[in-house]
Order: sequence, then C-alpha cells, then structure tokens
Amino acid sequence: MDNQQLRQAGLKVTVPRLKILQLLEQVKTRHLSAEDIYKALLESGEDIGLATVYRVLTQFETAGLVKRRNFEEGYSVFELDKGPHHDHLFCIKCGKVDEFVDKKIEQRQKAVAKDKGYKMTDHSLIIYGICSVCCKKRATK
Ligand SMILES: [Zn+2]
Ligand SMILES: [Zn+2]
Repeated sequence: MDNQQLRQAGLKVTVPRLKILQLLEQVKTRHLSAEDIYKALLESGEDIGLATVYRVLTQFETAGLVKRRNFEEGYSVFELDKGPHHDHLFCIKCGKVDEFVDKKIEQRQKAVAKDKGYKMTDHSLIIYGICSVCCKKRATK
C-alpha cells in the first residue's frame, strides 16, 4: 500500500492516512480496532489522535480500502479489503479474531440464498466463543 493506492482510491495522501495504511499492511494479525491502531501509532512515535484514526478508517471504508467487521456492540475491527473471502471467529474474552474458510459452509449459504430466490452478493459469518488461550486461563483458575 502506497501513495498511488491512496490516490487510486480518490484520497489525498496525508501522513495519518499513509501511516494507518502501512500499519494495516504490516500487522500479522490483520484485524485491528481503531484503539489498536491508535496505540500502535503512539508506540511508533506518531502523534495521531484517536478521533483522526476513526475519521481515516471511515474514509478508507467508504473508499473500499478496508472492511469494517462489527463483532460486539461498539467493537469493530478493520482489515484491508483484499485477498480471498473468509469468515471469522471471535473470542468474547480477549477480543482475538481468527479467520477460516469452510467450503461446505460457503456452498450451503449459496444454496440457501438460491432456494429463497436470492443471488448472493456477500455474507458475513462470525462464530463467537472463547479462544484456546482463554480456555486454558479459565481451567487453571
Ligand atoms: Zn481469548
Ligand atoms: Zn478477516
């Protein structure tokens, strides 16, 4: 992600936009909340306020650069809108997000939509649960 990609999305290149895009590109976890981004920028010495982070993310979403995933009420994470379709697992204890693709689920969803006379354009599936790390923490308490 670079200047050119921002321009292609119809956005002027600004420091906050560039930094946030670079961050979303770099992270291994791929799914970041606005607070995560704010903290990471702070740690790397960037003085970008939380309100700016929110504003930039909303602009990115409108421009089709990122996807917003709403998990719990008021909690959403952002990921770059590229790569193949996938669904998510969400830990209700620590907020960890994992990805998965299950061919059978994908096929069934298409079939269900078709049965109801819909041509499916998109779907989002989230499995809520407690991740393995949090399960272990619980067990040892
Ligand atoms: Zn967890
Ligand atoms: Zn994802």
